[in-house]
Amino acid sequence: MDTNAAARPPRPRTVFTAEHEMFREQMRRFVDREIAPFHRDWERAGIVPREVWRKAGAQGFLCTMLDPEYGGAGGDFGHAAIIIEELARVNASGVAFQLHSDIVVPYIAAYASEARKREWLPKMAAGEIIGAIAMTEPGMGSDLKAVRTSAVRDGDHWVINGSKTFISSGQNAGLVIVVCKTDPAAGRRGVSLIAVEEGTPGFTKGRKLEKIGMHAQDTSELFFEDVRVPVENLIGEENGGFRHLMHQLPQERLVIAVRAATSMETMLEKTIAYTKERQVFGHSVFDFQVHRFKLAQAKAEIAMFRVYVDDCIARHMQGELSGEEAAAAKLLGTEMQNRLLDDFLQMHGGYGYMAEYEIGRAWADARVGRIYGGSSEVMREIIARTL
Ligand SMILES: Cc1cc2nc3c(=O)[nH]c(=O)nc-3n(C[C@H](O)[C@H](O)[C@H](O)COP(=O)(O)OP(=O)(O)OC[C@H]3O[C@@H](n4cnc5c(N)ncnc54)[C@H](O)[C@@H]3O)c2cc1C
Repeated sequence: MDTNAAARPPRPRTVFTAEHEMFREQMRRFVDREIAPFHRDWERAGIVPREVWRKAGAQGFLCTMLDPEYGGAGGDFGHAAIIIEELARVNASGVAFQLHSDIVVPYIAAYASEARKREWLPKMAAGEIIGAIAMTEPGMGSDLKAVRTSAVRDGDHWVINGSKTFISSGQNAGLVIVVCKTDPAAGRRGVSLIAVEEGTPGFTKGRKLEKIGMHAQDTSELFFEDVRVPVENLIGEENGGFRHLMHQLPQERLVIAVRAATSMETMLEKTIAYTKERQVFGHSVFDFQVHRFKLAQAKAEIAMFRVYVDDCIARHMQGELSGEEAAAAKLLGTEMQNRLLDDFLQMHGGYGYMAEYEIGRAWADARVGRIYGGSSEVMREIIARTL
Protein backbone atom coordinates (compact mmCIF):
# COMPACT_ATOMS: atom_id res chain seq x y z
CA MET A 1 0.00 0.00 0.00
CA ASP A 2 1.35 3.40 -0.96
CA THR A 3 0.72 5.48 2.16
CA ASN A 4 2.76 8.39 0.81
CA ALA A 5 0.67 8.97 -2.28
CA ALA A 6 0.66 12.69 -2.96
CA ALA A 7 -2.66 14.46 -2.72
CA ARG A 8 -4.04 15.04 -6.18
CA PRO A 9 -5.12 18.56 -7.08
CA PRO A 10 -8.89 18.98 -6.74
CA ARG A 11 -10.91 18.11 -9.82
CA PRO A 12 -11.72 21.23 -11.86
CA ARG A 13 -15.33 22.26 -11.33
CA THR A 14 -17.17 22.36 -14.62
CA VAL A 15 -20.03 24.47 -13.30
CA PHE A 16 -17.98 27.67 -13.46
CA THR A 17 -16.58 29.43 -16.55
CA ALA A 18 -13.16 31.12 -16.77
CA GLU A 19 -14.98 34.42 -16.25
CA HIS A 20 -16.55 33.08 -13.03
CA GLU A 21 -13.10 32.07 -11.79
CA MET A 22 -11.72 35.55 -12.50
CA PHE A 23 -14.61 36.95 -10.50
CA ARG A 24 -13.68 34.53 -7.68
CA GLU A 25 -10.15 35.92 -7.61
CA GLN A 26 -11.52 39.45 -7.16
CA MET A 27 -13.96 38.38 -4.47
CA ARG A 28 -11.23 36.40 -2.69
CA ARG A 29 -9.01 39.46 -2.58
CA PHE A 30 -11.90 41.53 -1.22
CA VAL A 31 -12.68 38.95 1.47
CA ASP A 32 -9.03 38.63 2.49
CA ARG A 33 -8.59 42.39 2.67
CA GLU A 34 -11.93 43.73 3.95
CA ILE A 35 -13.61 40.87 5.82
CA ALA A 36 -11.41 38.09 7.21
CA PRO A 37 -9.11 40.32 9.31
CA PHE A 38 -12.06 42.01 11.02
CA HIS A 39 -14.63 39.26 11.46
CA ARG A 40 -13.58 38.39 15.02
CA ASP A 41 -14.11 42.03 16.02
CA TRP A 42 -17.55 41.97 14.45
CA GLU A 43 -18.36 38.78 16.36
CA ARG A 44 -17.54 40.61 19.58
CA ALA A 45 -19.62 43.62 18.49
CA GLY A 46 -22.51 41.38 17.37
CA ILE A 47 -22.87 43.18 14.07
CA VAL A 48 -21.09 43.82 10.76
CA PRO A 49 -20.57 47.55 10.02
CA ARG A 50 -22.77 48.93 7.24
CA GLU A 51 -19.64 50.32 5.65
CA VAL A 52 -18.68 46.78 4.57
CA TRP A 53 -21.85 46.56 2.47
CA ARG A 54 -21.03 49.88 0.81
CA LYS A 55 -17.52 48.70 -0.01
CA ALA A 56 -18.86 45.44 -1.45
CA GLY A 57 -21.48 47.34 -3.44
CA ALA A 58 -18.89 49.70 -4.88
CA GLN A 59 -16.89 46.74 -6.14
CA GLY A 60 -19.81 44.84 -7.63
CA PHE A 61 -20.08 42.09 -5.02
CA LEU A 62 -23.74 42.73 -4.18
CA CYS A 63 -26.77 41.81 -6.28
CA THR A 64 -24.65 40.02 -8.87
CA MET A 65 -27.72 38.48 -10.52
CA LEU A 66 -29.64 41.76 -10.74
CA ASP A 67 -30.27 43.38 -14.13
CA PRO A 68 -27.75 46.21 -14.77
CA GLU A 69 -30.75 48.45 -15.51
CA TYR A 70 -31.36 48.45 -11.75
CA GLY A 71 -27.72 48.70 -10.71
CA GLY A 72 -26.92 44.98 -10.66
CA ALA A 73 -24.04 43.15 -12.28
CA GLY A 74 -26.20 41.12 -14.68
CA GLY A 75 -24.49 37.88 -13.70
CA ASP A 76 -25.96 34.48 -12.91
CA PHE A 77 -26.25 32.19 -9.91
CA GLY A 78 -22.65 31.09 -10.52
CA HIS A 79 -21.45 34.54 -9.43
CA ALA A 80 -23.75 34.40 -6.42
CA ALA A 81 -22.39 30.94 -5.52
CA ILE A 82 -18.82 32.22 -5.71
CA ILE A 83 -19.59 35.00 -3.23
CA ILE A 84 -21.18 32.48 -0.86
CA GLU A 85 -18.19 30.12 -1.22
CA GLU A 86 -15.57 32.80 -0.66
CA LEU A 87 -17.32 34.00 2.49
CA ALA A 88 -17.70 30.40 3.68
CA ARG A 89 -14.01 29.74 3.02
CA VAL A 90 -13.11 32.13 5.86
CA ASN A 91 -16.29 31.30 7.81
CA ALA A 92 -17.53 34.89 7.63
CA SER A 93 -20.89 33.81 9.00
CA GLY A 94 -21.96 37.32 9.98
CA VAL A 95 -21.70 38.85 6.53
CA ALA A 96 -25.18 38.34 5.12
CA PHE A 97 -24.51 39.37 1.51
CA GLN A 98 -26.29 36.24 0.28
CA LEU A 99 -29.42 37.01 2.28
CA HIS A 100 -29.45 40.51 0.86
CA SER A 101 -28.51 39.74 -2.76
CA ASP A 102 -29.92 36.28 -3.37
CA ILE A 103 -32.92 36.11 -1.04
CA VAL A 104 -34.34 39.61 -0.43
CA VAL A 105 -33.49 41.45 -3.65
CA PRO A 106 -35.00 38.73 -5.92
CA TYR A 107 -38.45 39.34 -4.37
CA ILE A 108 -38.22 43.04 -5.17
CA ALA A 109 -36.77 42.46 -8.63
CA ALA A 110 -39.45 39.91 -9.49
CA TYR A 111 -42.56 41.33 -7.87
CA ALA A 112 -42.26 45.03 -6.84
CA SER A 113 -43.76 47.86 -8.88
CA GLU A 114 -41.53 49.50 -11.47
CA ALA A 115 -41.36 52.71 -9.42
CA ARG A 116 -40.27 50.87 -6.27
CA LYS A 117 -37.70 48.83 -8.18
CA ARG A 118 -36.14 52.02 -9.53
CA GLU A 119 -36.21 53.60 -6.08
CA TRP A 120 -34.78 50.72 -4.03
CA LEU A 121 -32.75 48.36 -6.20
CA PRO A 122 -29.86 50.68 -7.18
CA LYS A 123 -29.38 51.55 -3.51
CA MET A 124 -29.47 47.88 -2.58
CA ALA A 125 -26.89 47.05 -5.24
CA ALA A 126 -24.71 49.87 -3.90
CA GLY A 127 -25.01 48.57 -0.33
CA GLU A 128 -26.74 51.75 0.81
CA ILE A 129 -29.89 49.84 1.74
CA ILE A 130 -29.50 46.45 3.43
CA GLY A 131 -32.41 44.07 2.96
CA ALA A 132 -34.05 41.62 5.35
CA ILE A 133 -37.04 39.31 5.16
CA ALA A 134 -39.33 38.86 8.14
CA MET A 135 -41.38 35.69 8.06
CA THR A 136 -40.90 34.21 11.52
CA GLU A 137 -42.94 35.35 14.52
CA PRO A 138 -42.68 34.48 18.20
CA GLY A 139 -45.57 32.01 17.78
CA MET A 140 -44.86 30.77 14.25
CA GLY A 141 -41.88 29.61 12.22
CA SER A 142 -42.21 26.51 10.09
CA ASP A 143 -45.93 26.93 9.40
CA LEU A 144 -45.82 30.09 7.29
CA LYS A 145 -49.54 30.21 6.58
CA ALA A 146 -50.16 30.67 10.34
CA VAL A 147 -48.54 34.13 10.25
CA ARG A 148 -50.39 36.62 12.52
CA THR A 149 -48.85 39.98 11.65
CA SER A 150 -51.74 41.75 9.97
CA ALA A 151 -51.91 44.28 7.17
CA VAL A 152 -55.23 46.07 6.68
CA ARG A 153 -55.96 48.30 3.72
CA ASP A 154 -56.87 51.89 4.64
CA GLY A 155 -57.25 54.07 1.56
CA ASP A 156 -53.88 54.34 -0.14
CA HIS A 157 -52.04 52.64 2.71
CA TRP A 158 -51.51 49.32 4.38
CA VAL A 159 -51.59 49.43 8.19
CA ILE A 160 -49.34 46.76 9.69
CA ASN A 161 -49.49 45.37 13.23
CA GLY A 162 -47.52 42.49 14.71
CA SER A 163 -44.06 41.32 15.66
CA LYS A 164 -41.32 39.24 14.08
CA THR A 165 -38.36 37.45 15.59
CA PHE A 166 -35.05 35.82 14.58
CA ILE A 167 -34.72 38.26 11.68
CA SER A 168 -31.24 38.19 10.13
CA SER A 169 -29.74 41.66 9.53
CA GLY A 170 -32.57 43.01 11.68
CA GLN A 171 -30.53 45.91 13.06
CA ASN A 172 -28.79 46.80 9.81
CA ALA A 173 -31.87 46.46 7.65
CA GLY A 174 -32.95 49.55 5.74
CA LEU A 175 -35.76 47.64 4.04
CA VAL A 176 -37.69 44.66 5.39
CA ILE A 177 -40.05 42.46 3.42
CA VAL A 178 -42.71 41.65 5.99
CA VAL A 179 -44.86 38.56 5.56
CA CYS A 180 -48.36 39.65 6.57
CA LYS A 181 -51.89 38.27 6.73
CA THR A 182 -54.10 40.34 4.47
CA ASP A 183 -57.08 37.95 4.56
CA PRO A 184 -57.17 36.19 7.95
CA ALA A 185 -59.86 33.73 6.88
CA ALA A 186 -58.03 32.51 3.78
CA GLY A 187 -55.07 30.57 5.23
CA ARG A 188 -52.19 30.41 2.77
CA ARG A 189 -54.27 32.37 0.25
CA GLY A 190 -54.44 35.30 2.68
CA VAL A 191 -50.70 36.01 2.92
CA SER A 192 -49.00 39.04 1.33
CA LEU A 193 -45.50 40.50 1.23
CA ILE A 194 -45.18 44.18 2.12
CA ALA A 195 -41.96 46.20 2.25
CA VAL A 196 -41.34 48.47 5.23
CA GLU A 197 -38.53 51.00 5.26
CA GLU A 198 -36.38 51.79 8.24
CA GLY A 199 -37.62 54.96 9.93
CA THR A 200 -41.31 54.41 9.09
CA PRO A 201 -43.27 55.54 12.19
CA GLY A 202 -44.39 52.58 14.31
CA PHE A 203 -41.64 50.26 13.00
CA THR A 204 -39.11 49.55 15.75
CA LYS A 205 -36.16 47.24 16.02
CA GLY A 206 -36.06 45.23 19.23
CA ARG A 207 -33.27 43.23 20.85
CA LYS A 208 -30.27 42.00 18.97
CA LEU A 209 -30.66 38.37 20.01
CA GLU A 210 -27.87 36.51 21.79
CA LYS A 211 -27.13 33.27 19.95
CA ILE A 212 -24.90 30.24 20.41
CA GLY A 213 -23.18 30.91 17.07
CA MET A 214 -23.12 33.34 14.14
CA HIS A 215 -22.16 36.03 16.63
CA ALA A 216 -21.48 38.72 14.03
CA GLN A 217 -25.04 38.36 12.68
CA ASP A 218 -27.46 40.98 14.01
CA THR A 219 -30.41 38.60 14.32
CA SER A 220 -33.21 40.66 15.84
CA GLU A 221 -36.77 41.15 16.90
CA LEU A 222 -38.87 43.62 14.89
CA PHE A 223 -42.10 45.32 15.97
CA PHE A 224 -44.87 46.89 13.92
CA GLU A 225 -47.43 49.11 15.59
CA ASP A 226 -49.89 50.82 13.26
CA VAL A 227 -47.16 51.08 10.65
CA ARG A 228 -48.59 52.86 7.58
CA VAL A 229 -46.95 52.18 4.25
CA PRO A 230 -48.18 53.18 0.78
CA VAL A 231 -50.09 50.50 -1.15
CA GLU A 232 -47.23 50.48 -3.69
CA ASN A 233 -45.09 48.76 -1.05
CA LEU A 234 -47.01 45.55 -1.70
CA ILE A 235 -44.50 43.11 -3.23
CA GLY A 236 -46.35 41.01 -5.78
CA GLU A 237 -50.01 40.15 -5.63
CA GLU A 238 -52.30 40.84 -2.73
CA ASN A 239 -52.85 37.45 -1.04
CA GLY A 240 -50.29 35.93 -3.41
CA GLY A 241 -47.42 36.06 -0.90
CA PHE A 242 -47.37 32.37 -0.10
CA ARG A 243 -47.01 31.51 -3.78
CA HIS A 244 -44.20 34.05 -4.17
CA LEU A 245 -42.43 32.58 -1.14
CA MET A 246 -42.73 29.03 -2.47
CA HIS A 247 -41.27 30.20 -5.77
CA GLN A 248 -38.22 31.89 -4.19
CA LEU A 249 -37.48 29.56 -1.25
CA PRO A 250 -35.64 26.91 -3.32
CA GLN A 251 -32.93 29.47 -4.10
CA GLU A 252 -32.62 30.27 -0.38
CA ARG A 253 -32.15 26.55 0.31
CA LEU A 254 -29.55 26.18 -2.40
CA VAL A 255 -27.68 29.17 -0.94
CA ILE A 256 -27.49 27.35 2.42
CA ALA A 257 -26.35 24.12 0.73
CA VAL A 258 -23.61 25.93 -1.21
CA ARG A 259 -22.30 27.41 2.03
CA ALA A 260 -22.36 24.01 3.73
CA ALA A 261 -20.29 22.40 0.96
CA THR A 262 -17.47 24.96 1.18
CA SER A 263 -17.55 24.95 4.96
CA MET A 264 -17.01 21.17 5.00
CA GLU A 265 -14.21 21.30 2.43
CA THR A 266 -12.39 24.09 4.23
CA MET A 267 -12.70 22.54 7.66
CA LEU A 268 -11.59 19.15 6.35
CA GLU A 269 -8.37 20.69 5.02
CA LYS A 270 -7.74 22.55 8.27
CA THR A 271 -8.40 19.42 10.31
CA ILE A 272 -6.05 17.32 8.20
CA ALA A 273 -3.33 19.94 8.73
CA TYR A 274 -4.00 20.15 12.46
CA THR A 275 -4.07 16.39 13.05
CA LYS A 276 -0.84 15.91 11.11
CA GLU A 277 0.90 18.43 13.30
CA ARG A 278 -0.50 17.64 16.75
CA GLN A 279 1.53 15.03 18.62
CA VAL A 280 0.03 12.68 21.24
CA PHE A 281 1.60 9.52 22.66
CA GLY A 282 4.55 10.00 20.33
CA HIS A 283 2.40 10.06 17.18
CA SER A 284 0.48 12.64 15.24
CA VAL A 285 -3.28 12.53 15.76
CA PHE A 286 -3.48 11.74 12.05
CA ASP A 287 -1.45 8.57 12.62
CA PHE A 288 -4.30 7.02 14.61
CA GLN A 289 -6.29 4.94 12.23
CA VAL A 290 -9.55 5.88 13.93
CA HIS A 291 -9.06 9.53 12.93
CA ARG A 292 -7.44 8.88 9.56
CA PHE A 293 -10.37 6.68 8.59
CA LYS A 294 -12.87 9.29 9.68
CA LEU A 295 -11.05 11.91 7.61
CA ALA A 296 -10.98 9.56 4.63
CA GLN A 297 -14.70 8.88 5.00
CA ALA A 298 -15.34 12.63 5.28
CA LYS A 299 -13.32 13.29 2.15
CA ALA A 300 -15.36 10.73 0.22
CA GLU A 301 -18.71 12.04 1.47
CA ILE A 302 -17.80 15.66 0.82
CA ALA A 303 -16.67 14.80 -2.71
CA MET A 304 -20.04 13.16 -3.33
CA PHE A 305 -21.93 16.16 -1.97
CA ARG A 306 -19.82 18.52 -4.07
CA VAL A 307 -20.95 16.74 -7.22
CA TYR A 308 -24.60 16.98 -6.16
CA VAL A 309 -24.48 20.62 -5.12
CA ASP A 310 -22.61 21.66 -8.29
CA ASP A 311 -25.25 19.85 -10.31
CA CYS A 312 -27.90 21.83 -8.39
CA ILE A 313 -26.06 25.09 -9.16
CA ALA A 314 -25.90 24.17 -12.86
CA ARG A 315 -29.55 23.15 -12.96
CA HIS A 316 -30.58 26.31 -11.13
CA MET A 317 -28.71 28.42 -13.69
CA GLN A 318 -30.75 26.65 -16.37
CA GLY A 319 -33.97 27.32 -14.44
CA GLU A 320 -34.51 23.60 -13.89
CA LEU A 321 -33.91 23.08 -10.17
CA SER A 322 -37.02 21.77 -8.43
CA GLY A 323 -38.12 22.60 -4.91
CA GLU A 324 -37.46 19.08 -3.69
CA GLU A 325 -33.98 18.98 -5.24
CA ALA A 326 -33.11 22.22 -3.43
CA ALA A 327 -34.61 20.79 -0.24
CA ALA A 328 -32.47 17.66 -0.65
CA ALA A 329 -29.34 19.77 -1.10
CA LYS A 330 -30.05 21.76 2.05
CA LEU A 331 -31.05 18.68 4.05
CA LEU A 332 -28.03 16.57 3.07
CA GLY A 333 -25.55 19.43 3.13
CA THR A 334 -26.42 20.83 6.54
CA GLU A 335 -26.89 17.44 8.23
CA MET A 336 -23.53 16.24 6.87
CA GLN A 337 -21.87 19.54 7.77
CA ASN A 338 -23.05 19.27 11.38
CA ARG A 339 -21.95 15.65 11.72
CA LEU A 340 -18.55 16.15 10.09
CA LEU A 341 -17.70 19.42 11.82
CA ASP A 342 -18.47 17.72 15.12
CA ASP A 343 -15.98 14.96 14.23
CA PHE A 344 -13.40 17.54 13.15
CA LEU A 345 -13.84 19.47 16.40
CA GLN A 346 -13.30 16.25 18.36
CA MET A 347 -10.00 15.69 16.55
CA HIS A 348 -8.85 19.11 17.77
CA GLY A 349 -9.30 18.04 21.40
CA GLY A 350 -9.65 20.94 23.84
CA TYR A 351 -8.47 23.43 21.25
CA GLY A 352 -11.56 22.57 19.24
CA TYR A 353 -13.68 24.01 22.02
CA MET A 354 -11.75 27.29 22.10
CA ALA A 355 -13.38 30.17 20.26
CA GLU A 356 -10.00 31.28 18.95
CA TYR A 357 -9.89 28.12 16.80
CA GLU A 358 -11.91 28.34 13.63
CA ILE A 359 -13.33 24.83 13.90
CA GLY A 360 -15.20 25.61 17.14
CA ARG A 361 -16.76 28.73 15.69
CA ALA A 362 -17.63 26.98 12.43
CA TRP A 363 -19.24 24.12 14.38
CA ALA A 364 -21.44 26.50 16.38
CA ASP A 365 -22.26 28.57 13.29
CA ALA A 366 -23.24 25.47 11.33
CA ARG A 367 -25.88 24.35 13.82
CA VAL A 368 -28.49 26.77 12.55
CA GLY A 369 -28.26 25.35 9.03
CA ARG A 370 -30.52 22.50 10.11
CA ILE A 371 -33.09 24.97 11.45
CA TYR A 372 -33.36 28.14 9.38
CA GLY A 373 -34.52 28.43 5.79
CA GLY A 374 -36.88 25.57 6.69
CA SER A 375 -35.76 22.92 9.18
CA SER A 376 -34.48 19.47 8.20
CA GLU A 377 -37.87 18.04 9.16
CA VAL A 378 -39.61 20.47 6.82
CA MET A 379 -37.12 19.57 4.05
CA ARG A 380 -37.96 15.87 4.52
CA GLU A 381 -41.66 16.77 4.36
CA ILE A 382 -41.12 18.65 1.07
CA ILE A 383 -39.26 15.68 -0.42
CA ALA A 384 -41.74 13.15 0.99
CA ARG A 385 -44.66 14.93 -0.68
CA THR A 386 -43.13 14.13 -4.05
CA LEU A 387 -42.70 10.42 -3.41
C1 LIG B 1 -29.95 32.53 13.43
C2 LIG B 1 -31.31 32.51 12.82
C3 LIG B 1 -31.59 33.36 11.75
C4 LIG B 1 -32.86 33.40 11.20
N1 LIG B 1 -33.15 34.29 10.21
C5 LIG B 1 -34.43 34.44 9.80
C6 LIG B 1 -34.80 35.49 8.90
O1 LIG B 1 -33.97 36.27 8.41
N2 LIG B 1 -36.11 35.63 8.57
C7 LIG B 1 -37.07 34.81 9.06
O2 LIG B 1 -38.23 35.00 8.74
N3 LIG B 1 -36.76 33.80 9.91
C8 LIG B 1 -35.46 33.62 10.30
N4 LIG B 1 -35.14 32.61 11.18
C9 LIG B 1 -36.20 31.75 11.67
C10 LIG B 1 -36.14 30.33 11.14
O3 LIG B 1 -36.45 30.30 9.78
C11 LIG B 1 -37.10 29.49 12.00
O4 LIG B 1 -36.50 29.38 13.28
C12 LIG B 1 -37.38 28.13 11.40
O5 LIG B 1 -38.16 28.25 10.24
C13 LIG B 1 -38.10 27.21 12.39
O6 LIG B 1 -39.21 27.85 12.93
P1 LIG B 1 -39.43 27.87 14.52
O7 LIG B 1 -38.18 28.37 15.13
O8 LIG B 1 -40.67 28.60 14.84
O9 LIG B 1 -39.60 26.35 14.92
P2 LIG B 1 -40.96 25.54 14.92
O10 LIG B 1 -41.70 25.78 13.66
O11 LIG B 1 -41.67 25.81 16.22
O12 LIG B 1 -40.44 24.05 14.93
C14 LIG B 1 -40.09 23.34 16.11
C15 LIG B 1 -39.67 21.91 15.74
O13 LIG B 1 -40.77 21.27 15.08
C16 LIG B 1 -40.30 20.74 13.86
N5 LIG B 1 -41.35 20.75 12.83
C17 LIG B 1 -41.99 21.80 12.28
N6 LIG B 1 -42.83 21.41 11.34
C18 LIG B 1 -42.71 20.06 11.26
C19 LIG B 1 -43.33 19.07 10.45
N7 LIG B 1 -44.21 19.38 9.51
N8 LIG B 1 -42.98 17.77 10.66
C20 LIG B 1 -42.08 17.44 11.63
N9 LIG B 1 -41.46 18.35 12.41
C21 LIG B 1 -41.77 19.64 12.23
C22 LIG B 1 -39.17 21.64 13.44
O14 LIG B 1 -38.33 21.01 12.52
C23 LIG B 1 -38.49 21.88 14.76
O15 LIG B 1 -37.65 20.80 15.04
C24 LIG B 1 -33.86 32.53 11.71
C25 LIG B 1 -33.57 31.66 12.75
C26 LIG B 1 -32.32 31.65 13.32
C27 LIG B 1 -32.06 30.73 14.46
